Amino acid sequence: MNLLTRRIIGNMPGPRLLILGGIHGDEFEPMVAARELLQLVRSDQLHGSLTVVPVVNEPAFLRGHRTADDGLDLARTFPGRADGSITEQIAHATTNLIQDADFVIDLHTGGTQLAARPLVGYMLHSDPDVLKWQRRMARAFGLPVIWGTSADLHGRSLSACRDANVPAIYAEYQGAAVCRESGVRAYVDGCLQVMSELKMLPHIDRQPLQEPLVVEDARPSSGHLQICNPAPCTGYWRRCVELDQQVGRGDKLGTISDVLGDNLLPILAEQTGIVIVLRTYPRVFQGDALAVILERP
Ligand SMILES: [Zn+2]
Repeated sequence: MNLLTRRIIGNMPGPRLLILGGIHGDEFEPMVAARELLQLVRSDQLHGSLTVVPVVNEPAFLRGHRTADDGLDLARTFPGRADGSITEQIAHATTNLIQDADFVIDLHTGGTQLAARPLVGYMLHSDPDVLKWQRRMARAFGLPVIWGTSADLHGRSLSACRDANVPAIYAEYQGAAVCRESGVRAYVDGCLQVMSELKMLPHIDRQPLQEPLVVEDARPSSGHLQICNPAPCTGYWRRCVELDQQVGRGDKLGTISDVLGDNLLPILAEQTGIVIVLRTYPRVFQGDALAVILERP
C-alpha cells in the first residue's frame, strides 16, 4: 500500500513533521489545507522535513464517504495490517509514516453528518516530555478550545503516535458536508504556527490569540466522540441547540421522530457543558452520537 505522500526536505537540519488529512474521506478542509501547505513551505526556509498526506483515506474520499467500502473506520483501525483489508492496509502504511516522524498533526472535521466546534486535542501521555510538546503544539495551533483526553483510546492515528512516543495533536473544524474557507485558513495558519514553535520555520508574527479554553480530562473514554449522547432509535433527528451552546444535564437537545411524526422522542443532554460536536444530518441510526458536550471535570 502506497499512500500519496509528498515530502519537503529542508536545507537545514531539524525535526521531521508529519501532517495527515483525510483520515476520513468526507472531511475536506484538511485536504485543501494540506495541499496549500505544500505550496507555502520552501526548502530554503525549512529546518528538518515536512511530510504531507492530504488524503490518507483515498478510497473513502473517492466514495464520498467517511470510510472505504470495507466499512472500517480508519480512526479505529490503527496500527493496521499489511495483509489486511483496504482500511487495515492504509492504517499500516500510515503507522509506518508515524514511526518515521518526530511530530504529527492529524486534521479532521465533523465530516458529512456532524459539525464540530474548532478545537485542538491530544491524548494525555504518561511521558511528561511528550505531553509537554503536545501542550505546546496545541497552544501554538491557535484554536479556541484545547482538549486533552484519555490516554487509553485505541485504534486511532494518535494511538499509534502514543505507542511510538511521538508527540501528536489533532484538530476539528466544522464539517456538515461543506469545505469552509475559514477552516482551510485556520488549518494552514495552525500548521505554520506549530512549525514555527518547533523551530522548523522562522518566527511568525501574529495577532495575540484569545486565551483558549483548556480542558484536560483523564477519565476513560473521554475524547471518544462516537459514544456521546447516542440516539435511542433510528429516525428523523431535529436538533434544537447550536454548536458552542451551554447546556445542562437534562436539557433538550432535539427530537427524533418517525416519518409521520406520530412518535416524537425528546433527546435530553446526558452531561452539563458546551456543545462541541452536533449531528447536523437529519437521518439518524440507533446508536449514532447526536452531540458531544465538553464537560469540565
Ligand atoms: Zn475525522
